[in-house]
Amino acid sequence: MKDLRRRMMNALGSKELFEQAKNYSYHYMDNVQERDVFPDMEALEGLKIFDTPLNKEPLGSDRILSLLHEYGSPATVAQTGRRYFGFVNGGAVPAAVGAKWLSDVWDQNAGLYVISPISSKLESVSEKWLKELFGFDESTCIGLVGGTSTATLCGLAAGRYQLLKNAGWDVNMDGLAGAPKIRVVIGEHAHSTVYKALSLLGFGKNQLEYVPVDDNGAMLADSLPELDERTLLILQAGNVNSGAFDPFEEICDKAKKSGAWVHVDGAFGLWARAAKSTFDLTIGVEKADSWSVDAHKTLNAPYDCGIVLCKHPDSLIKSMQMSGDYIILSEERDGMLYTPEMSRRGRGIELWATMAALGSDGIDKMVTSLCENASLLGELLSENGFEICNDIVFNQVLIRYKDNETTLKILKSVQESGVLWCGGSKWKGDDVIRVSVCSWMTTPEDIALVAEEFKRAKQIFCK
Ligand SMILES: *Cc1c(COP(=O)(O)O)cnc(C)c1O
Repeated sequence: MKDLRRRMMNALGSKELFEQAKNYSYHYMDNVQERDVFPDMEALEGLKIFDTPLNKEPLGSDRILSLLHEYGSPATVAQTGRRYFGFVNGGAVPAAVGAKWLSDVWDQNAGLYVISPISSKLESVSEKWLKELFGFDESTCIGLVGGTSTATLCGLAAGRYQLLKNAGWDVNMDGLAGAPKIRVVIGEHAHSTVYKALSLLGFGKNQLEYVPVDDNGAMLADSLPELDERTLLILQAGNVNSGAFDPFEEICDKAKKSGAWVHVDGAFGLWARAAKSTFDLTIGVEKADSWSVDAHKTLNAPYDCGIVLCKHPDSLIKSMQMSGDYIILSEERDGMLYTPEMSRRGRGIELWATMAALGSDGIDKMVTSLCENASLLGELLSENGFEICNDIVFNQVLIRYKDNETTLKILKSVQESGVLWCGGSKWKGDDVIRVSVCSWMTTPEDIALVAEEFKRAKQIFCK
């Protein structure tokens, strides 16, 4: 070990490996716009170089970094470029990438104040800023997790804990078997991760009560079943396909009267609340009890940065119950109280940096421009004879041409062009092309290029 330690100390001392990493990073940043958005065949083939048994002797850091640069980098997806429209993946605000870089060197464990005062401080500040940005109650607390999947799990766990507690049942002590029955009411277009969270919490798909949705995939308030104080109601800010928002005001008013717990999956759509142009989509969402949202989507924080917000800190903390003789709680924020994890990286550092770098004005402008670019794409494609299948209320565009077969051919051709990348989905049983405008970098000129590319692909298949 003495030898190995000496080598590692030398690596830390000379900084050569960090210079090398910096040079490769700069090279990536400078070229990400020029390369294909999705890696080409050669790049994918190149990944085979990593299929080796674990080496017995230590591998030099120079070799490790050059392997990543030569074979790893070409096989990345150019998500930080201007024309990546897949899933709902945001770009990354430069100041936040820099902050993440620096904090990687710090390698903080954000579990407790005593493990990382700086992480604790920036989580506290982020909590305050988010509350202001979203206009949520003063009591609202946050937990920082990997993404909305986990944030939803936390919000629903808090709701399950509290509803059972109200019914005189302590789920932490007595478990689920024999507990009073909790109903789950959910929209027909809920995201798949909500079902995952529910199943982890002991609710199966066959037990749920489904509420039908309108033409754009928003819940029909009129079709809501009778709610009561044993109901978990799950709403959505941003349908993953169409971008539609549930009618929060009407539904939340009913829910509050009944004593139900309302959770909102706002993975990318909750940010609509931070822009004047889209705020109205979210009226009434503040009446919910808990929310999940991703900073790594619409806010353009680096991956991975999910947030659970809960109006009732006690419910969240109790549901994430944490104890142990060696746990040292402080007067300051102890992040592990609000999440399922104990040790955690300091993602509050980049969350804070992203919000500070944009400012509330910048967040407003960025969200607005994502939506404007989505509308522009819809217009340009309509003019070119494409069918736009959704009402573009936010940043999502669903596109179709003629039939399923032609639509899928156009999708494949567009994906292989390297000019842009987007995915496909199903909408009302049909195949659609799904574009999510989610990067701060995308300009109206990029949107024009994208529209041209769609036109080109269409012409190949439809003479
Ligand atoms: C992306 C998304 C999720 C899942 O979020 P992750 O950050 O990938 O865990 C959940 N719901 C909706 C509506 C989404 O768009």
